[in-house]
Amino acid sequence: MPHNPTTSLLDRSRRAVWHPCSQMKAYETQPLLAVARAEGVWLYDTEGRRYLDAISSWWVNLFGHQHPHIKAALKAQLDTLDHVMLAGCTHAPVVELSERLGALTSLGHAFYGSDGASATEIALKMSAHYWRNLGRPGKSRFIGLEHGYHGETVGALSVTDIPIFREAYAPLVRLGATAPSPDARLAAPGRSALDHARDCAAALEAWLQQHHDETAALIVEPLVQCAAGMAMHDAEYLRLARALCDRYQVHLVADEIAVGFGRTGSLFAYQQAGITPDFVCLSKGLTGGMLPLSAVLTTDAIYDAFYSDDTARGFLHSHSYTGNPLACRAALATLELFDASDVLGANRATAQRLDELLQPLHRHAAVESSRRLGMIWAWDIATQDPGFARRYHAAALQQGLLLRPIGRTLYFMPPYVMDDEALVQLAQGALAALEQTLHHT
Ligand SMILES: *Cc1c(COP(=O)(O)O)cnc(C)c1O
Repeated sequence: MPHNPTTSLLDRSRRAVWHPCSQMKAYETQPLLAVARAEGVWLYDTEGRRYLDAISSWWVNLFGHQHPHIKAALKAQLDTLDHVMLAGCTHAPVVELSERLGALTSLGHAFYGSDGASATEIALKMSAHYWRNLGRPGKSRFIGLEHGYHGETVGALSVTDIPIFREAYAPLVRLGATAPSPDARLAAPGRSALDHARDCAAALEAWLQQHHDETAALIVEPLVQCAAGMAMHDAEYLRLARALCDRYQVHLVADEIAVGFGRTGSLFAYQQAGITPDFVCLSKGLTGGMLPLSAVLTTDAIYDAFYSDDTARGFLHSHSYTGNPLACRAALATLELFDASDVLGANRATAQRLDELLQPLHRHAAVESSRRLGMIWAWDIATQDPGFARRYHAAALQQGLLLRPIGRTLYFMPPYVMDDEALVQLAQGALAALEQTLHHT
């Protein structure tokens, strides 16, 4: 057999790389996609075929791959300061980024990690440590939402309510409590999304009445529970949750890791509720999808509770690459792109155009729920096929689209920079892949 470099790369990858969120044996029958390069919204495989990155490389990319402004900022930073430890040292990129994020959120103290899960860990630890510093060490438990996702390290799993990610590690996890999800699809017959949000807030209140003395924080994904299958809820839930957290002295943690940076139509999703959380977790789009970086932003009140002559009252958490200058510079360049043009306005126009093109999909007989918020689209497909997601993914690749349904929920979370050609290919290809998946079993 002639030597095929792509086959060889796939084989070597399966042997040497343990891929995330994967049963490795499945790659015997569903080949990996060997990506050679990426530009704009397109990924190019090692054979030169291109695919529209319609899920933004796991929700991280905002302005396309190889964005010239972010690249130029990174190259300049690389020639100045690559990395330095952040304990005892500081540098301009981390200071500027912290000031900018503080101005955008009015939460003026930024702590950095490298991934979303580490941001969750930081927020949970900071919250419990705050209560301890206040002489209330009993407030050390957390409550999250049903079907919530906050990452997969052991601490983050305590508030991640997705059984398949958690079950094998149950003995390791100090499980948090779960409150009913305000997911509008779960509304009882005759109840609206708004009614359901209020019902869920009432259930949260009943729980907090009983348990506030032992509870440090409520953690939520504002407006869209993405990993649950783009479950969307009414902003009223966040308003009521904020009021309950105030009444019962429990922190509100907004996990904006997936929904931040314009995904839901506002820069941050919680802003649509007109509230301010006690903690905001950011990652994914923070660097425009270029480098790993996460941040936890918090209030003066929380910061002040750690400020002391006593070392042990301080927040002694650390990661080696905390505040990496390159990653901070990529984040600053990403924020500059938001300054340079009306990104949210342009996204509204893009979404409207794509929705027109998507009419056949919205009205498809197999679609049970069709929903959109900002630049997130989702459809629940009426199918009993447990292999739907895998087969749809393969069919979409044939259409030149990278799409990975969650269970039987098909969704788009594309970069913000699709031209009309890309929009047409996305709408037509997604529909063709659905037909192929449903009718050629
Ligand atoms: C992806 C995600 C995380 C975890 O981020 P990682 O970088 O994958 O660790 C946490 N919360 C939400 C809402 C996410 O979507």
